[in-house]
Amino acid sequence: MTSARGRTLVWLRNDLRLRDNPALFHAAEPRCGVVAVYVLCEQFIKQHITGAARLDFIRRHLELLNRDLGKRHIPLVLLRVAKPDSIPSKLLKLAQKEGCEQLFFNAEYPVDELARDRAVAEACRREGIRFKRFHDRVILPPGKVRNGQGEPYQVFTAFKRRWLELASSQLAQPHGLPARQPEETGEVKDRGHRPDTLFTDLALRDLSSLWPAGEDVALKRLKTFTDGAIHDYNAILDYKKTRDFPAQSGTSLLSPYLAVGSLSPRQCLNAALAANGENWQGDEGVETWISELVWRDFYQHVTVDFPQVCRHKPLQPHTDRFPWRSSDEDLDCWQQGDTGIPIIDAAMRQLKDTGWMHNRLRMVVAMFLTKNLRIDWRKGEAWFMSQLIDGDFAANNGGWQWSASTGTDAAPYFRIFNPVTQSERFDPKGEFIRRYVPELAGLSEKEIHQPPPTKGYPEPMVDLKASRKKTIELFKSLNSEAPSGERS
Ligand SMILES: Cc1cc2nc3c(=O)[nH]c(=O)nc-3n(C[C@H](O)[C@H](O)[C@H](O)COP(=O)(O)OP(=O)(O)OC[C@H]3O[C@@H](n4cnc5c(N)ncnc54)[C@H](O)[C@@H]3O)c2cc1C
Repeated sequence: MTSARGRTLVWLRNDLRLRDNPALFHAAEPRCGVVAVYVLCEQFIKQHITGAARLDFIRRHLELLNRDLGKRHIPLVLLRVAKPDSIPSKLLKLAQKEGCEQLFFNAEYPVDELARDRAVAEACRREGIRFKRFHDRVILPPGKVRNGQGEPYQVFTAFKRRWLELASSQLAQPHGLPARQPEETGEVKDRGHRPDTLFTDLALRDLSSLWPAGEDVALKRLKTFTDGAIHDYNAILDYKKTRDFPAQSGTSLLSPYLAVGSLSPRQCLNAALAANGENWQGDEGVETWISELVWRDFYQHVTVDFPQVCRHKPLQPHTDRFPWRSSDEDLDCWQQGDTGIPIIDAAMRQLKDTGWMHNRLRMVVAMFLTKNLRIDWRKGEAWFMSQLIDGDFAANNGGWQWSASTGTDAAPYFRIFNPVTQSERFDPKGEFIRRYVPELAGLSEKEIHQPPPTKGYPEPMVDLKASRKKTIELFKSLNSEAPSGERS
């Protein structure tokens, strides 16, 4: 252990990969030794509702990282704490024990994580340990995309225009693998937990057959989606045409990997540009997919610029006075996929069965919960987090506030999706419904969207037309009471 002093401690969080990981890459560059650490925080798991599928996905990623980092002589230490307050002292103790003179990590943006990182930074300053934070979770860091007055954007199209100007003029290339470290720096006195003991007593849900872990899988899926050389078919080129049809695999299915960080958004953008001959414009499938990556950045920026969204507050303050209904029974029907509206039930069962839901259906079920059942969007947001394998605070909160008409660039309150019309339009043959609601499998294409009384399947739990009307009235009176400037 002669040269184990002067090592760098890299704190891994939602960036569970080796390639294009700025903190890891820069820590490894001088080849003076790197120790990696992951800290599981029980309070955050509870408070942020990290679901069992996502926790198991993290566990599986840590197993692979342990192996792959080890090959580069980078030991991985796994720590578990009850509360975030103890993280600074745990990290400092580890750094001191293992001769690490600096701490590197990639930024996370929700307020609890920022507060945790500030406390760590403060402790490092006190103890004379240098620390460095990198921006990794986004393509353009928060604060970078501003309007002429230097203010954050609240409307996506304007954000996107500026984002494209900036990104196309200064696109950062993804980093490669971190350098292999000298063998003699590759040991630690105590590795803490093993990947299998780190999660003891926590509910885990193994969805490995649908969502195998690891950056190799993630990169392969990205390549399959963007590189026609593999199957002679480039799914990304058809993305605009196929993305709204849940029965087809028209989207990339990369969200779990982006959420856990086994894939970086820069790797995605680079692959998309390569599919388009390194052009930003041209193919409309590629352009539309890049737009989704911009949405992803947008919501991460919103989290930083409007931190009230992290405190269960709507972005538009006046909407907090909306009279949401409270009904555990109705909420349960929605959660279990027992509403009597086939497309809603199919979507909610897809979520329960696979830990994932198609984007169009996320909007449809969110609107149904908030606009037809008039149940608080925060209840839906929490249920999604508990079930999703791709649960990501910024995207989930952004999607829910958009659907509930309480957020940035939200859907106007009077534009309410009718789930039956959406079903007829985007699942015309009822293939998706049949897959998840076998009770209706025998119905015709015409009947399946709005079935006649069918044995074993409930009647619709709500009158879509009347509930829509009531919600619009309530929003209208809310908006007329709101001080000007607060309204959408
Ligand atoms: C109510 C609601 C809740 C949502 N919750 C989440 C969540 O917890 N985690 C999550 O990753 N996405 C969430 N989304 C966004 C979107 O539904 C998923 O990212 C998408 O369905 C993932 O599938 P895909 O990887 O095949 O996406 P693709 O269509 O292939 O898109 C590529 C990537 O772009 C990003 N992206 C796409 N659409 C959006 C969007 N609207 N907002 C932000 N990023 C986007 C994702 O990272 C996605 O993997 C939510 C949307 C809504 C309406």
